[in-house]
Amino acid sequence: MAKGSRPRKSSQPKTSSSTGLPARGAAVDPLELYVALVAGAENLSVTAARGLLRMRQAVQFAQQAAKGALVKLDLDADGEIEWYSSAARAPLLRDFMCLLLLRTIDDFPQHAPAVRRLLARIRRGFDINEYAFQLREQIRKGPPCTDPWDRALTKPRIDEAILTRIAPVAVWAVREMAAAALRAHSKKRWGRGKRCPVCGAMAYARQGARFLCESCETRWPTRARIDCSCAEPQVWVRAAEVSASGFDVLRCAEGKCTTYELDRSLTAAFNPFWYVKLVRLLDAPYKKTALQSPRG
Ligand SMILES: [Zn+2]
Ligand SMILES: [Zn+2]
Repeated sequence: MAKGSRPRKSSQPKTSSSTGLPARGAAVDPLELYVALVAGAENLSVTAARGLLRMRQAVQFAQQAAKGALVKLDLDADGEIEWYSSAARAPLLRDFMCLLLLRTIDDFPQHAPAVRRLLARIRRGFDINEYAFQLREQIRKGPPCTDPWDRALTKPRIDEAILTRIAPVAVWAVREMAAAALRAHSKKRWGRGKRCPVCGAMAYARQGARFLCESCETRWPTRARIDCSCAEPQVWVRAAEVSASGFDVLRCAEGKCTTYELDRSLTAAFNPFWYVKLVRLLDAPYKKTALQSPRG
């Protein structure tokens, strides 16, 4: 993968002809190309990169298979859609979770015993929907140190850690599907601001003149700049060491936030955040996973 391409202005995205990325129609699978760029930027192993690709393929397969299935959208007291709880409580979530767990057995066989225990628990009636919902509630209510994701990683058994990492991938996948259905059936004119016009979340990337929603993958046109999530939004600095041609990684001056500038030819872009956390966990050796899993 090419590294260290020239710095450029955020308002002037390159075309595929100027980036060296394969032109549209070239014999490269768009998803494989995008995952290879993410894997390079995240310094993933070959195993983790392949796992990332196959997890996303599994999600797309599940989304296709579930097309037409209804996701009931919960509303809050103000009539706004509660996206997280709607996805967490959707019956579809269970299917998505089970498919991702089965994929884990294939791609990370060292975790097969743990995954089989989890599948057996689900079969015995473990309520995966309630689990996914409570995960979020615990984060909302508790101080940062009680984050269930971090807490699970300190336990000696890997099962809980796998659940805490796989659940958000599945929740986001259902959310993505529900948002696509809403866009398809709504006559509403979508806005052009900084927040996703469908779900209100922030953008994780800019692609040409569009933002890409970090939570539901909606694309919307905007001239705005992406703000970082620090209390005082910082300027973005291009991370030359991990940027590839057509896939620029930007970090805020505090170093806490990341965003991407993507070439328009990267048509299979998706927010890799939860997927990367998941495959990093699964890629670690079984014995060490629970105690030494990277927090990033
Ligand atoms: Zn959104
Ligand atoms: Zn920041």
